[in-house]
Amino acid sequence: MTVVTRFPPSPTGFMHVGNARTALFNWLYARHYDGKFVVRIEDTDRKRHSEEAVAAIMDGLEWLGLNYDGEVISQFSKLDRHTEVAKEMIAKGQAYYCYCTAEELEEMRENARAAGHKTFYDRRWRDADAASAPKDVKPVVRIKAPVEGETTINDKVQGEVTVANDQLDDFIILRSDGTPTYMLSVVVDDHDMGITHVIRGDDHLNNTFRQKIIFDAMGWDVPVFAHLPLLHGADGAKFSKRHGAQSVQEFREMGYLPEALSNYLLRLGWSHGDEEVIPRDKAIEWFDLDHVGKAPAKFDFAKLESLNAHYINVSDADDLLRQALPFFKQRHDLVPDDIGIARLKAGMDELKSRAKTLLQFVDDAAFYVKAVPLSFDEKAQKNLEDAQAVLEGLLSVFEAHTGVFDSDFVQESCKEIADELKEGKLGKVAMPLRAALTGTTVSPSIFHAAEILGKEESCLRIKGALER
Ligand code: GLU
Repeated sequence: MTVVTRFPPSPTGFMHVGNARTALFNWLYARHYDGKFVVRIEDTDRKRHSEEAVAAIMDGLEWLGLNYDGEVISQFSKLDRHTEVAKEMIAKGQAYYCYCTAEELEEMRENARAAGHKTFYDRRWRDADAASAPKDVKPVVRIKAPVEGETTINDKVQGEVTVANDQLDDFIILRSDGTPTYMLSVVVDDHDMGITHVIRGDDHLNNTFRQKIIFDAMGWDVPVFAHLPLLHGADGAKFSKRHGAQSVQEFREMGYLPEALSNYLLRLGWSHGDEEVIPRDKAIEWFDLDHVGKAPAKFDFAKLESLNAHYINVSDADDLLRQALPFFKQRHDLVPDDIGIARLKAGMDELKSRAKTLLQFVDDAAFYVKAVPLSFDEKAQKNLEDAQAVLEGLLSVFEAHTGVFDSDFVQESCKEIADELKEGKLGKVAMPLRAALTGTTVSPSIFHAAEILGKEESCLRIKGALER
């Protein structure tokens, strides 16, 4: 049997990280078993439908590197097929027309409420004579759910879950306007797409009992189900906006790498011993449903950040720069030229080891790309006050130097100037130098930065600071 998993998002305008985790688990399961991972857009709600919302999801999948097999299926495009299955069930006596009016249903609801019943529909049309059907009521189609006994799902995560059948209604599969309900469409699509494993959030567990009734009524194989506990915030409440970023797009804009986010999402609720850093190839090799936890997974931003720092640190320089480019533009209105790129690469190891996010990476790195005259932030300006003698001293030592302009030389020169001007601490010279070269007060080692900028550029920047 070839494993076929699916990702069936309802396009809401963004991709929630919880959904991304579901997609990732499905993807990994398929890849682990050399199976297929298919995408179905559950776009039957036409009033709210937008192509941008679909694009946001496809973009999220691509960014996370979750490639899919075959064409993306539109659920809406399959409506005729869903209707046809409903008609087939009617023909087989597995479903029936129900002509109840809104008032009748309300009355049933009231009665059920008063009696404390969970279900309310009294199945009055289940065995009624079609001849007695009122002409002026457009019927819905209801499934004949089993009345006695119980239904059991052998869930790969939740274990055996049983519900008494009297808790399940004869639910609607076709509305009175002829459109299929979600419950029907999902089952027909899952069957037609050959889905063998349904891995999804446990908010769908209740639907599963109803969906199983449809599979059984049609005599179709029931897929294996695995219902994942939902994400929670650190406080134990359902993960929501008040806990912070929610969508994949937001995390991307905050400078997280896709490798880090997906590694983090994988570890949320699934484990492989004590492994924290799990690259993609290992994830595919190790992923299974046996080690998905039953407890809600708590989203921990600090853990995500430390994984992000790790993945930035081990990133390939070109790849990291490619991902950082939009942030240079966005945050500093900078487009690195060849010289800028060469400097960034020369300073790469230090930049990478400092950065927790791509935003921090570009903020730390921007000075390499900027052109003179630099602008100086408030703290840098403070460091430049009363630093004329220091900067003039450094400038003349630098300008007179004909040997290799490297970090050792720059550091020695700073010491020299500190002694000469009786400044005492090296920082008294290094801080103004940092301010002059970077326009800020935070940067990688300023001696190394000066080496990377080179003698000429360093002198230009010092002059700029003196003339400011
Ligand atoms: N479209 C549903 C959702 O986004 C998923 C349904 C399913 O996995 O069966 O929650």
